[in-house]
Amino acid sequence: MSIPVTYLPESEISCSSCQACCCKLEVMLITDTGVPKEYIKTDRWGAETMKRLDDGWCSALDRGTLMCTIYENRPWICREFEMGSAECKTERLTEVQ
Ligand code: SF4
Ligand code: SF4
Repeated sequence: MSIPVTYLPESEISCSSCQACCCKLEVMLITDTGVPKEYIKTDRWGAETMKRLDDGWCSALDRGTLMCTIYENRPWICREFEMGSAECKTERLTEVQ
């Protein structure tokens, strides 16, 4: 039986062994970090989030490498999302279920 990733030791949690789980979350744009317009979705009230495609991932994610293509301009929320944090572990667990 495989061990759920959420129970892996901290040292074994790495973005390089993850299917970019956190890039499927809704990411609100709170500050202007220079995200290109084509990756932004604006709702009718003017709130901005990262646009996601039908596969669930953020439109700025490179599907081949699973790397962020706008890393230098990624939203504040993406900068704050910490590898190994409780949120990270939750997303990784969601992915394996
Ligand atoms: S921060 Fe966590 S959920 Fe996001 S890619 Fe890295 S390991 Fe995966
Ligand atoms: S902007 Fe980059 S880091 Fe943030 S969700 Fe999209 S692909 Fe992931």
